[in-house]
Amino acid sequence: LRDATRQQDVLCHLGGDQFAVLLRKPATPNDAVHAAERFLDLARETIDVSGQSVITSISIGISRSQVDGTVESLLRDADAALGEAKRAGRNRYELFDGALKRAAQTRARLEGQLRLAMSDDQLRLHYQPEVDLLSGRVIGVEALVRWQHPDHGLLSADAFVPLAEETGIVTKLGDWVLREACQALARWSPAFPSLAIRVNLSAVQLARRKLVDEISAALVACDVAPSRLCLELTETAVMTDTTRSVEILEDLAELGVRIAIDDFGTGFSSLAHLHRLPAHVLKIDQSFVAELNQPRGQAIVGAIVALAAALDLEVVAEGVETQHQRDLLLSMGVRRAQGHLYAPALNEADLLIWLDDPGNQ
Ligand code: C2E
Ligand code: CA
Ligand code: CA
Repeated sequence: LRDATRQQDVLCHLGGDQFAVLLRKPATPNDAVHAAERFLDLARETIDVSGQSVITSISIGISRSQVDGTVESLLRDADAALGEAKRAGRNRYELFDGALKRAAQTRARLEGQLRLAMSDDQLRLHYQPEVDLLSGRVIGVEALVRWQHPDHGLLSADAFVPLAEETGIVTKLGDWVLREACQALARWSPAFPSLAIRVNLSAVQLARRKLVDEISAALVACDVAPSRLCLELTETAVMTDTTRSVEILEDLAELGVRIAIDDFGTGFSSLAHLHRLPAHVLKIDQSFVAELNQPRGQAIVGAIVALAAALDLEVVAEGVETQHQRDLLLSMGVRRAQGHLYAPALNEADLLIWLDDPGNQ
């Protein structure tokens, strides 16, 4: 980077794998673009490290100082542009412009509202039944968080969980979801004593030591047997910092809680680690179920089923929408599933009506 930086510019290491370059006056946006192109060109050259060829890539965000700007706002805008460069596929640069600025403002507003939503009782849990494919009977439910937004109505998880993860709000949100899910299970226990509940955990939550105590406390407070709670984690979440996540997962498994690997096949997974994880369930992502009418989808689902059998894990398919998909899955050895063919995520009142139907019990 120093080679590609001019004498009058400032290069500094922000920490981790992040660097900042300050182009001094009279820098124009064009100067910044040229500098970014120089950096990208240099990064394309392979580097020799002890005889090994190493390939690097860099992503760059460019922002311009404003008359009323501060060091913080300059760095924040560059960071927003950097995020955009990463989302657009990495190894490229992106300029902070009007559209990005508006998006950043919308996000900042949403973040503020989300913090308020927690204290203002605007979060809800919806529940999607998971059924036995052969009998159609309910096994458990997956808790899916919703936000009853004062202006935008009921928002689904995709609209705000990623933001909650980026901002760290997800630890508080996840704690609320866990306690709410355990309380719901306790409310339903008299009528449905063996119903299980699945709760999604984000990677941020798994990184916290306190998680095990919090889950244990939530179960004790509601007098719910740990085996009725199943935690869903994506493979990428459990594969990042594996030593630590294996430890935490082992503690959770020791509690008696069950562990599911969510969206299996869409993330980053190491088979070596997978077999060391104290997991009980593999969930087949809905994108593969949607492709079941093509050879590719069938091959992937077949491979996941075989892997699960070899590792002695249960398989659950998600996003089952048609009878045809149900039949194919059954013929491939999948016994459990959830999806719109059976029920979407329902609020508590609708779930209880659905559960009351004798065909679902
Ligand atoms: P996921 O865990 O893979 O959840 C399945 C998503 O697919 C849900 O969307 C569900 O409503 C939707 N779905 C269920 N059946 C069908 C179907 O037959 N067809 C189609 N097309 N979609 C179906 P939702 O509720 O918007 O959740 C999106 C994602 O947000 C979840 O994906 C999960 O990763 C995350 N999420 C949801 N609730 C929580 C939570 O409490 N905590 C955390 N950390 N993440 C959550
Ligand atoms: Ca899930
Ligand atoms: Ca999924």
